[in-house]
Amino acid sequence: MSLTSRIDLDQRAAHDAPLDVAALATVALHAGRVPDPTTGALLPPIYQTTTYVQRRVGEHLGYTYSRTANPTVTALERRLAALEGAEHALCFSTGLAATVALALGLLRAGDRVVLSAVVYGGTYRLFADLLAGFGVVTESIDTGDEEALHRALATPARLLLVESPANPTLRLTDLALAGRLGHAAGALVVVDNTLLTPALQRPLELGADVVLHSTTKFIEGHNATVGGALITRDAALAERLQWTRNAIGAIQSPWNAWLTLQGVKTLPLRMRRHCESALEVARFLAAHPRVTRLLYPGLASFPQAELARRQQRGGGALIAFEVEGGAEAGARLMSALKLCSLAENLGAAETLVTHPASMTHAAVPAAQRQALGITDGLVRLSVGLEEAEDLIADLRQALEA
Ligand code: PLP
Repeated sequence: MSLTSRIDLDQRAAHDAPLDVAALATVALHAGRVPDPTTGALLPPIYQTTTYVQRRVGEHLGYTYSRTANPTVTALERRLAALEGAEHALCFSTGLAATVALALGLLRAGDRVVLSAVVYGGTYRLFADLLAGFGVVTESIDTGDEEALHRALATPARLLLVESPANPTLRLTDLALAGRLGHAAGALVVVDNTLLTPALQRPLELGADVVLHSTTKFIEGHNATVGGALITRDAALAERLQWTRNAIGAIQSPWNAWLTLQGVKTLPLRMRRHCESALEVARFLAAHPRVTRLLYPGLASFPQAELARRQQRGGGALIAFEVEGGAEAGARLMSALKLCSLAENLGAAETLVTHPASMTHAAVPAAQRQALGITDGLVRLSVGLEEAEDLIADLRQALEA
């Protein structure tokens, strides 16, 4: 996968040399970094301020009020844009706030949205319940099924929102195909890249118009903040989204942006380690006699393994599985884990185990969940940065408890 972003190390001049994958670690550390002009501080200061003094009416230094823009948030935005190979990024208070800004900024009553059927439950709730009340018409389809994608996009749409891999079944969508079909239908193509991050997948290079992130997950990576981002190469679109963010008041706080800037420095390193450990854990689970269903895009047995190899640079950190004995056995297993914490998040240093049916996807109607493979017994594991051996030992004792 070619990386074409530019490192804007000191803002004097961006250099245009294409960046190779190995250089991503450098981008994660340095893109947009400027030593503080007054003290030389290496890290960007936390500009914990609501407002900015203006020299005279109509003359300011680019910042007026921290709902509109804040220099610490700008520093994070530059870093995230460079990582996704884009020029523009906007950070939000949460991932869902970013999705809300996208919807309110771009959609009007009567507009048609095509949405991946398997998505984070909060995204589904936003479109199916809340935006439906404002006249936005959402069609949830299996975007991983080429025929379904062709059928849905034979009719004009305003927005195609794809999550790949999708939370929690890890269903993949062919992003290049989605981009082509989405554009042919007149849609803006948005990819939620939360589960892989730009370290493992770069949707803008595959044709997407906007990348969406819950930075709450791997980008910040330490279970310390909630946040979101929208990233694009389109200046006019970025301006519209910036206008919307200001209009709805959904900007990220400077403190959370600063913490996220610290987290993102190790993103490429962490993602590599997450993938290595997840692969080991997935192999262990696949071979365990009590595991009846296992989904991990890095295994050859994954139904869309070829697509994963084509558009991802690793299997990621998430594993979904079921154990013999269904929902009850799954609940027993999750409660018996000691090192893996039972909690509603993913994508951080600590391994988390989640029961999607009662937690992250409780807003999706039960029958629909079943049809999408989000069974009551499905266990979602977000493999953290512990020793894989320790995680396997914990899973083994819980499976055998
Ligand atoms: N997108 C995905 C794939 C998610 O998993 C989540 C949250 O779990 C979100 C978006 C929403 O992000 P947040 O919780 O930061 O609002």
